[in-house]
Amino acid sequence: MATPLAVGRNTTIVVGAGIIGTALGLELQRRGRQVTIIDRGAPGQGASFGNMASIAVTEFMPASRPSVWKQIPGWMLDPEGPVRVRASYMPRLVPWFLRFIAASRPGKLRALEAQGAALCGRALEDTQAMLATHGLADQLSAEGCLSLYADEAEFRADRDHIEILERFGIPHEILGRPAIKALEPEISDQIGMAVLFPKNRSVKDPYKLVQALAARFQALGGRIETGTVASFTRGEAIREVVLTDGRRLPADEVVIAAGAHSAALAKALGEPIPLETERGYHTQIMRPGIKLKHSIIWPARAFMVTPTAGGIRVGGTVEMAGLEAPPDYRRSKVTVRRARVALPKLRCEEFTEWMGHRPALPDTVPILSASAKTRGLFYATGHGHLGLTYAATTALLMADLITGAKPALDLHPYRIDRF
Ligand SMILES: Cc1cc2nc3c(=O)[nH]c(=O)nc-3n(C[C@H](O)[C@H](O)[C@H](O)COP(=O)(O)OP(=O)(O)OC[C@H]3O[C@@H](n4cnc5c(N)ncnc54)[C@H](O)[C@@H]3O)c2cc1C
Repeated sequence: MATPLAVGRNTTIVVGAGIIGTALGLELQRRGRQVTIIDRGAPGQGASFGNMASIAVTEFMPASRPSVWKQIPGWMLDPEGPVRVRASYMPRLVPWFLRFIAASRPGKLRALEAQGAALCGRALEDTQAMLATHGLADQLSAEGCLSLYADEAEFRADRDHIEILERFGIPHEILGRPAIKALEPEISDQIGMAVLFPKNRSVKDPYKLVQALAARFQALGGRIETGTVASFTRGEAIREVVLTDGRRLPADEVVIAAGAHSAALAKALGEPIPLETERGYHTQIMRPGIKLKHSIIWPARAFMVTPTAGGIRVGGTVEMAGLEAPPDYRRSKVTVRRARVALPKLRCEEFTEWMGHRPALPDTVPILSASAKTRGLFYATGHGHLGLTYAATTALLMADLITGAKPALDLHPYRIDRF
């Protein structure tokens, strides 16, 4: 039998060194816990590697709202549409999709909006505080995000989004063409209107951010262990994390923060969750030939552009095809083509392409929860399109939950056994 690693007692093991696991591990370490983060690779190489870098506090609305799902059948017929389901994956998706539809009832939608808004309402301040605490304040942009509309009709089509923001007091400013040009001269004259979201900021490089948080975690005494978690031993309480190479790590508490891979681990722990991967793509353009200060979204064309430390990043779209299928980079080429409509001088000659797995729950809000079955076991997963946005807030709330402090939000709506 393999010998237990000398992790020691009073320890917390966090499974997953993405932005969620790293931010949480660091917060727990800061509060005096002895924390080990386990990842099968180096920190930050999952979805957190290549996201669109946006602290997107305006994007909490459930994907299951009618203005979105009514367009899904049309999108599915369009090979270049913003949502694509690979035919071979459709049967696997049915149970998730039925829950997605169930999350579109008007009463349910109102509740989900409030749950997303409760997290987004604190996300920027929590992110700023986390970055400042760890000497990383310069990683955050000062400028917000511009949401583009070709004309009044496109703006009206996105009106429900703006109305939800108004309901939750999230600031925004409607701009006409001269104001858009004054903020971002590279934006095409085809764009007649925009909404500025001043609280949507971006980080310079999401991967480097995870690396910096991980380095800080280690500097405070935290341990990072490389290994793939295969199973667990538990009775009433969690006992050990077992790795595929046979190593066993005893722990008083375990947190599952393995992004889209959390589903398999939750199942092994007897708590299956309807977690899917919404695959997304980015193109990182090293020499774009233009400069931008704001990030840009164009809701009708379903893409985002973010100025980052390594050039301009273009991304977006959702592909439902599971964890194993190879990437289809035609999807990133479509987003670049669309971005060049908004930014006609954008050059795309030297670039890299990337695909990542958003951990997506059918009701859009994450799981921030103690286990319903096993003492000492916790889950911080399912952050979907907003894992970077929610990371600092997740770290604070989960650290409260784990250390027995009262979380600043009622976490009941985010519990694991809500499905
Ligand atoms: C194209 C795209 C754009 C996005 N844009 C944004 C954005 O602008 N703003 C935003 O807020 N969010 C965005 N997101 C979403 C965001 O990236 C994710 O929600 C977030 O990265 C999830 O973080 P995580 O730590 O939960 O998962 P991950 O970053 O995927 O980390 C999970 C980690 O767990 C490890 N792991 C998994 N299984 C095991 C195992 N069995 N044993 C050991 N280790 C394991 C993996 O190796 C990985 O490192 C985007 C996502 C994509 C794909």
